Amino acid sequence: MNEYLITNGTLIPLGSSQEVIQKGALYIKDDKIEDLGKTSDLVQKYPQVTKHLDANKKVILPGLICAHHHLYSTMARGFSPPGSPASNFQEILEKLWWKLDYALSEEDVYYSAIIPMIECIRNGTTTIVDHHASPNCCDGSLDKIAEATLDSGIRASLCYEVTDRHKPGQGIIESERFLKRVSEEKSPFLASCLGIHASFTVSDETLLRCREIAEKYQVGYHIHVAEGPGDVADSLSKYKVRPVERLVNRGICGEKTLFAHCIHIDEKEMDLLLQTKTTVLHNPESNMNNAVGVAQILKMMEKGIRVGLGTDGMSSHMPAQMRVAYLLHRLENKDPRVAFLEAPKMLLENNPSIVNQQFPVKLGALEPGGPADLAIWDYCPATNLDFNSFLGHFIFAMPQATVDTTIVGGKILMQNKKLLSLDEERLCARSRELATELHRRIT
Ligand SMILES: [Zn+2]
Repeated sequence: MNEYLITNGTLIPLGSSQEVIQKGALYIKDDKIEDLGKTSDLVQKYPQVTKHLDANKKVILPGLICAHHHLYSTMARGFSPPGSPASNFQEILEKLWWKLDYALSEEDVYYSAIIPMIECIRNGTTTIVDHHASPNCCDGSLDKIAEATLDSGIRASLCYEVTDRHKPGQGIIESERFLKRVSEEKSPFLASCLGIHASFTVSDETLLRCREIAEKYQVGYHIHVAEGPGDVADSLSKYKVRPVERLVNRGICGEKTLFAHCIHIDEKEMDLLLQTKTTVLHNPESNMNNAVGVAQILKMMEKGIRVGLGTDGMSSHMPAQMRVAYLLHRLENKDPRVAFLEAPKMLLENNPSIVNQQFPVKLGALEPGGPADLAIWDYCPATNLDFNSFLGHFIFAMPQATVDTTIVGGKILMQNKKLLSLDEERLCARSRELATELHRRIT
């Protein structure tokens, strides 16, 4: 039996709990949290448990969640597309991403997934929602990412982006095949939804085919919406309505559906998101990098739209992404009173509620009976850390802290900053060889 106590940590269970337990402890049995409380109490209550992980001078938090990732973007690191630099978002897609994704091989897909999953483990991110594209090796590509997921030990919701870019409805067969696999296997580590690239690369006929499959498997959609102005112009010229209205009119919406970005949307579109209970995924670092604008997420959240937080492939470090959101919206609104609650809420409250609609286990909180997904952060606070001061610590100091130990489903994936089941050096060495070849193919 896998059982151990984590002792002496500053335990912050989150979820419905509103406490910070000093000298806190967790009793983990198999894949679940059996009990939690004060170390002195738990040690006395469970004398038979001899394995203890000491978390003294450390903070224990639930595993963090990334609600929008692109694992396949890994091999773009250090690559500069030939020719003049892209001057707008459409050119960024054409010069970089659509060349890179088309050139990916099956082995590239595996390695470009396992490397950021190591980064997830190193940064306390235990669940991700990914959006994948590899048109030249589409069939079976989600199985390669699932293989990397199971090898890494984290949890991932995977989808393939359906698009008409190369041929009508490309990715639909792979999407359905993987949804069938997930629904049959019922693994607590894998989930899926119906991925679509964006309104401007899919016809109505393709959307209808997507809808039939999503309804058959009772899943939501995961699609980019109004990331750049081109998506809006395309929808207005072809369908006489803006992208959110186009998608909502065709049933591509709802409480399990994720619209990434939503930068160029108007008030009417926000109201449609609210009415259909559709979720928005904010990716501030990526939006800044692509210079596409700032999503009005404070306004959306004020209206009651659920907004989650992703990285869009920029990193797997969620506290850093949350902090960028916090800073960006203060500057954008020229108001130093805003975003203090909203930025952490996206990460700590909304991301768990998003993935809890996809996975069969309850993620994002440390509670008895729940899965043992957590990270132990090297963070010894310089000022008092209690529930009232937690967000201040979380925004201003913890993005610089490092993770010592990461646990998913009770399995210790990293301890004392050492990965226990992955050979990072070997994996990175092979990734570098593959990336060199890949870059050669696209230049
Ligand atoms: Zn994206």
